[in-house]
Amino acid sequence: MADKLNAVKGMNDILPPESARWEWFEAKVRALMARYGYANVRTPVVEPTALFVRGLGEVTDIVEKEMYSFEDSMNGDRLTLRPEATAGIVRAMIEHNALYNGPMRVWSNVSLFRHERPQKGRYRQFHQIDVEALGFAGPDVDAEQILMCRALLLDLGIPAEHVWLELNSLGQPAERTAHRAALIAHFEAHADALDDDAKRRLQSNPLRILDSKNPAMQAIVEAAPQLMDFLGEASLAHLAAVRAALDAVGLAYRINPRLVRGMDYYNLTVFEWVTDKLGSQGTVCGGGRYDGLFEQLGGKPTPAVGWGMGVERMLLLLEAVAAQPAVPTVDVYAIVPVAQALPTALATCEALRAAGVEVLMHGAGAESWGSMKSQFKKADASGARHALIFGADELARGEVTIKALRDGSGAQTARALSEVATWAATLQSPAPNH
Ligand code: ATP
Ligand code: MG
Repeated sequence: MADKLNAVKGMNDILPPESARWEWFEAKVRALMARYGYANVRTPVVEPTALFVRGLGEVTDIVEKEMYSFEDSMNGDRLTLRPEATAGIVRAMIEHNALYNGPMRVWSNVSLFRHERPQKGRYRQFHQIDVEALGFAGPDVDAEQILMCRALLLDLGIPAEHVWLELNSLGQPAERTAHRAALIAHFEAHADALDDDAKRRLQSNPLRILDSKNPAMQAIVEAAPQLMDFLGEASLAHLAAVRAALDAVGLAYRINPRLVRGMDYYNLTVFEWVTDKLGSQGTVCGGGRYDGLFEQLGGKPTPAVGWGMGVERMLLLLEAVAAQPAVPTVDVYAIVPVAQALPTALATCEALRAAGVEVLMHGAGAESWGSMKSQFKKADASGARHALIFGADELARGEVTIKALRDGSGAQTARALSEVATWAATLQSPAPNH
């Protein structure tokens, strides 16, 4: 036998029945986006490396150590598997002048790649639901996006006590410059407590130190001067307006002055939805405003705000705190006792499917269709509500037998094959979980 090949470490296969939970989640997301008027976008998985270096900032965890970058062996281009969604979407908007007719609200379901240490809730290929409102200065749209996230949590049946909102403002670049000087002074005064990352970032990007995940750094991070104290009137007013909107709809939040997020492009509003159910992978959704990113990537000044939600983490959270969706099953399992019945069975199943009935047909080798007993076992295991039996006697009469598998009655009814259209609908189950 040839050697087995395995998936790349930290990159997951999603197979049935787990894949059904993903589809269920994605259906909830699609319905949510429709309710809020967000349109779907899809951009490439591979982008020029420069997009992320310029977009996210050179001195960030992602750009310094998490990107899957490679050289195109055909032409030497420097390329990267996208580690986040926003930069690619903004590039696309600029490239296609897509905001020419006005602002846009878009969403995307993306695979992302980061070279991190794999653990529960942290993978090297993972997925995000990403929303972006492009060309809106807010603060109403900041609040709208936060509320979308709450609405999704509700739709998913996640009890509010398990996830909360943390909110902060990163102000504007000039305000951050003043804060930066104070930060450097603070960290210099505690230079011996800094880890290697922090030492390296002290001059280049001290704000990043606040995002440190090193437990040994938490005390010095806690004691650092807060950006909130450096915000001017306009930034404070923006934050107050977001808060007022959230207060108006009764959404509680925690102001977290140390919330800075992992990318450099953010300004003003930043937020995270956090749970205590997933250990140190507790952030399920993070986002904020990025009014400077369009210009940084060569576009016209364009205010914007967005968030990314970790799909794996949401599904883990669901598993921990909410009722699980039922695994979807087909309506009908078609039993074919003898090979001669196959053409009629196929044709009838096609007619049923055309009428919207979900049909799983017994599959077998050319020689053996298996005993009726084994076919009934498979029909049961499939979860179908009805078995259709294409037996020789029935076929001779131009009929098929329908057996109820789930209502406990085991009732059998004969139906005319020539009238499939009239009874097809009686086999359909109500759509589950919607
Ligand atoms: P963390 O602080 O946990 O590393 P992050 O700040 O790097 O998260 P973002 O880049 O803001 O995360 O991405 C938004 C969301 O994507 C996170 O809140 C999380 O739910 C999810 N996410 C980020 N990195 C991973 C990963 N490696 N594996 C699985 N999900 C992830
Ligand atoms: Mg991270």
